[in-house]
Amino acid sequence: MTPKNKMRGRILVTGGAGFIGSHLTDRLKEIGNEVVVFDNLCSGNIEFIQHHLEKPNFTFIKGDLLNKDDIEAACNDIDFVYHVAANPDVRLSAVDTQVHLEQNIIATYNLLEAMRKKNVYNIVFTSTSTVYGEASTIPTPEDYGPLIPISLYGASKLACEALITSYSHSFDIRSWIFRFANIIGSRSTHGIIVDFIGKLKDDPNHLEILGDGCQSKSYLHVTDCVDAILFAVSHSNDAVNIFNIGSEDTITSTKIGEIVVEEMGLEDVRFSYTGGQRGWKGDVPRMLLSIEKMKLLGWEPSYTSEKSVLETASTLIKSSS
Ligand code: NAD
Repeated sequence: MTPKNKMRGRILVTGGAGFIGSHLTDRLKEIGNEVVVFDNLCSGNIEFIQHHLEKPNFTFIKGDLLNKDDIEAACNDIDFVYHVAANPDVRLSAVDTQVHLEQNIIATYNLLEAMRKKNVYNIVFTSTSTVYGEASTIPTPEDYGPLIPISLYGASKLACEALITSYSHSFDIRSWIFRFANIIGSRSTHGIIVDFIGKLKDDPNHLEILGDGCQSKSYLHVTDCVDAILFAVSHSNDAVNIFNIGSEDTITSTKIGEIVVEEMGLEDVRFSYTGGQRGWKGDVPRMLLSIEKMKLLGWEPSYTSEKSVLETASTLIKSSS
């Protein structure tokens, strides 16, 4: 059944050893939950949750969502699932047509089936702005439609949303679906800032930027993201709850490049562009989510896109030097 206090109980975090999942795990432990992290460590890192391993009421299960026995066993006596595990690499969509089908859609189906069999009645799902495709309304609200994703990643996340909402209605599973803007912060292992730092380490005189550099998107710091998730879960209780989570402004790829260059203490770096509006096939060049629904609930971001980028660049540069 739905636990009375949704912030407490025995919580399963799939993908809890990844970037966002490990920050979520930190917060869930901080507020006194028993947490079970389920992760196959394909892109996660055990070091991100090392500090919890010896703690009471913490369990790490190295398991794969594609293995039905693994996930079914992990769902024993669970009150609440935060389903964070996925392959989050949008760019892969253009070169591998199978990965998001398996790692996102089949993996989510296996989890929902395990929940149904083990009587777990609450799920949080980490979805994405890419389900909107190239929205003509910006900032894009949750009820925007039709939803026409332009990457297989976006399509897979939309399919996961549909599976979750139908399981909610068919099997009394309460769900929270969060459509994220770009989330950044310490422990980021992928995305534009990680990419730029890597390129500038290889060649401190030159930065290649994908597309024309004018792509303009919303970025949010991971601490705000985790705050928003926990806030919405404790303040909403419909059968299906869908929220956008992002900052209220955007930043361009070129500006991010300038910030990374400055934070690395480099000078006279030449920028070159691969050209075109998009960084890659399936890239949405302009993205800003309406967060009015979250604001009406009482949550607001504390970071702007620029502040999130500055803080992340500085942290990642320090931790990689
Ligand atoms: P991440 O790669 O750091 O985390 C994903 C985690 O899932 C990793 O620890 C990985 O090992 C685990 N995992 C993957 N496949 C698995 C499987 N089959 N079985 C068990 N574990 C598995 O990525 P992230 O950036 O932290 O993203 C977390 C979630 O948020 C994803 O669902 C992603 O789609 C979503 N999201 C992220 C962003 C972003 O900007 N980072 C934006 C929108 C949505």
